[in-house]
Amino acid sequence: MSAVAAGLDLGQLASESERLLEFLYVCPVGLVETDEAGEVSLMNPLAARLLMPIAAPASLANLFAALEPYAPDLRYIASSFGGERGAICENRRIHLRQGRPDAPEVLACSLIKIERGRIMAVLTDVTEQVVQERRLKEAESWFSMILAGVNDFALLSLDATGRISAWNVSGERQTGYASRDVLGRTMNVFYFPDEAVQGRALQQVDLARRDGWHIDEGWRRRKDGSRYWCQSLVSALEEKTGEVTGFSVVLRDVTQSKTNAEEIRRLLTTDQLTGVSNRARFFELGEAEFTRWKRFRQPLSAMMVDVDHFKRVNDGHGHAAGDEVLKQVAASLQGGLRSIDAIGRLGGEEFAILLPSVDLQGAAMIAERLRQTVAALAPVVDGRTIPVTVSIGCAEIAADAPDLETLLKSADGALYAAKQGGRNKVAVVPPAAAA
Ligand code: GH3
Ligand code: MG
Ligand code: MG
Repeated sequence: MSAVAAGLDLGQLASESERLLEFLYVCPVGLVETDEAGEVSLMNPLAARLLMPIAAPASLANLFAALEPYAPDLRYIASSFGGERGAICENRRIHLRQGRPDAPEVLACSLIKIERGRIMAVLTDVTEQVVQERRLKEAESWFSMILAGVNDFALLSLDATGRISAWNVSGERQTGYASRDVLGRTMNVFYFPDEAVQGRALQQVDLARRDGWHIDEGWRRRKDGSRYWCQSLVSALEEKTGEVTGFSVVLRDVTQSKTNAEEIRRLLTTDQLTGVSNRARFFELGEAEFTRWKRFRQPLSAMMVDVDHFKRVNDGHGHAAGDEVLKQVAASLQGGLRSIDAIGRLGGEEFAILLPSVDLQGAAMIAERLRQTVAALAPVVDGRTIPVTVSIGCAEIAADAPDLETLLKSADGALYAAKQGGRNKVAVVPPAAAA
């Protein structure tokens, strides 16, 4: 009975050790059993495969000797472990520096003391993992280099309430604020006080919360008080539940392109000599004014202004002096107008002015004031006073005016009358006659 039982036990034991060997054989990590001095008593095939290329065959009998050139302290770590059992070291990275594509580059080694005289070493080839980590680190450093290197971008994060929660060097460079200046504050800190009071920064955050993202642009304030033209993109960070947990923000400094665009626009729309609108720009503004007049039927008046006897100025003082006089006349005309009025140099020494919401009587008063101002100007060029006067013709738009040109032609007719009347005069065309 007992022999049968013993036979069964032996069979069981045999098959268990068979299974254990099988396990050791296919185990995806290298397993080595040693004593405290590193003398190997058991090693599975994978451990042999990992150690073979790096160790001289003689040194394979001792794990610490095999790893000596790469991890000389391993022996010491093991011998100085004071515990009865437990982890001596975990995933110690051992760089093998082999430079061979078929051999492992980096091993992770864990030493576990099982009992006195028995240490189990677990070896894993982590070459691939290390390569990936290195790639990730490279990508990270590339990314931060890009972040740090792109001059006109700043990246920051806001929490769900719109307060700045992350800030980096790109933001500091763009705005001059260090993270301690801005963390916990809203983006109002970048706005000039008038807009900040209106809560413009938080409005943008609210729009991004509602729509997912929002783009805005305008003048923003640096820490030193200087301004820059900033494009800001605020994107909401949404959880799967739809709850907005924060915002990411990109700020772009586009001052240069804004300035360039404004400069190009200025060059295209202003008269080089006098700085008032050029002919094309004046008619563009005029068309917009005419359209508005057709819609709202507010009064609209026009003036034609021509410098008197300007040829004499040129003849008597030279063309350059004439230019200077023209500049001063234009400036004094413009100085006598409201910002909604349009003044353009139509050519030579002739200017046209549009006065929205001003009737003929008002226009005549304004014209008279302008005439007096110019007459009192007495520009001094190269030490010589050059008297200058203008004649002005005024007209108010007729109820059935078909276009802007008709109005300007009427004002031109009045200008002719002012010249005929002796110059340095204002003449008006009554609305009934203007058509
Ligand atoms: P009035 O208008 O009073 O009849 O006389 P005027 O002498 O002003 O008349 P006219 O229109 O015949 O002459 C205008 C002169 O303005 C002719 C031209 O040489 C001069 N002129 C036109 N454009 C410029 C300019 O840009 N600079 C200067 N210096 N002169 C200019
Ligand atoms: Mg003239
Ligand atoms: Mg003229």
